[in-house]
Amino acid sequence: MQLQVRQECPQCGGPTVITENDRLVTCAYCGVKHFLHTQGVYRYVVPPRKAPQGEQGFLCVPYIRFKGTVYRVSSAGITHRVVDTTQIAVNIPGLPPSLGVRPQAMQLEHVSPDFPARYLMRTLEPREIVHKAAHLSCGAVSFAESVFHLEYIGETISVLYLPVFREDNRIIDAVNESVLRGNTAVHNHQRTGCREKWVVSFLPALCPHCGAALDGSPDTLVVICDNCHRGWRQKGRALEPVMWQVVDGNEHGCLQLPFWKLTACIPALDITTFADFIRCTNQPITPRSEWTERAMEFWVPAFTIKPKAFLLAGRFVTFGQHHLGALKKGVKQQTLFPVTLPVKEAAQAIKMVLAAATNTPKRVFPYLAEAKVQVSASSLVYLPFMDKGHEWMQPHTGAVIGKNILKFGRFM
Ligand SMILES: [Zn+2]
Ligand SMILES: [Zn+2]
Repeated sequence: MQLQVRQECPQCGGPTVITENDRLVTCAYCGVKHFLHTQGVYRYVVPPRKAPQGEQGFLCVPYIRFKGTVYRVSSAGITHRVVDTTQIAVNIPGLPPSLGVRPQAMQLEHVSPDFPARYLMRTLEPREIVHKAAHLSCGAVSFAESVFHLEYIGETISVLYLPVFREDNRIIDAVNESVLRGNTAVHNHQRTGCREKWVVSFLPALCPHCGAALDGSPDTLVVICDNCHRGWRQKGRALEPVMWQVVDGNEHGCLQLPFWKLTACIPALDITTFADFIRCTNQPITPRSEWTERAMEFWVPAFTIKPKAFLLAGRFVTFGQHHLGALKKGVKQQTLFPVTLPVKEAAQAIKMVLAAATNTPKRVFPYLAEAKVQVSASSLVYLPFMDKGHEWMQPHTGAVIGKNILKFGRFM
């Protein structure tokens, strides 16, 4: 479930409702496009229904929201869960420990200096909160099971603030107007004003190379210029180039799905070449001699989909990489599927693709947590997928993705 956020156009002030995954925002009134930018995580306020009387403003209680997939590798195999949780980030008994489904039922607002509030300082680390939620959601570990590795992929961490205020020595939840406990603790807790780095800013969506207006799906992390065909992603307050390619001779009539091609070695498992990978995962084929010269590339979907389908697609394309043939520089001739998984997250997924690919878990699983993955190059490659009724099929590698799974992935 994605959160909805109210956003005003920096150009004309027109109101728009976006989802938390949107980065390229189009104003419904003036049509101008901007990239949203923030330093660090996004921070939202749950809009209050009731305001305090007099001069005193709101006190905002921080909650950490985690949304992503947790993978657990254990002696029993690979388990995965999509986790979506909002947990309190201060140690004050009496306040709601979680916001539950409340944020999903309303339109949130970005933190702003115009909102009359002070913010309670976090006393719990996001990592602790996320780790606890991950363990709970993956289910209990049986007595005989050893857990080797936990990985978080495609996660969004944000901070949600619940506004409360004091009234007659009581703490009132300004959203549902209930009376909360914890008056003294809330009152004595350290607080701060709205910090400049919390506030969202806007970047004009213009190609840094040719100046053309950039267009793309609101949730895409890579935008390709219609005019000069260069790819861009946000880095801080600027756009940086992204190298992108397509499979030669397969540009037309197919769905183009983005994959991150990551050249990487894993010294602890002796994986440097494609032949090493075939050996390490114990495939029932003899590596061809040229594979000993072929640097290992992991191919990871650059879009979010259900964990099982994600690993399967990564595994098929990684195994079938030698069938793909030549890649060539991309030219934007048709709609390209949005990139919704950043390259950093794709690099984290390498160990999971390896785990999913191995036929002999005992030789791989126990070493995953300690093994270092060294990524030496990365690029974005759009692979053609053919329409096969209920699913999309990649003709070179045999990777298959259900149409519904792909559609649903956009809303994860
Ligand atoms: Zn506007
Ligand atoms: Zn351009």
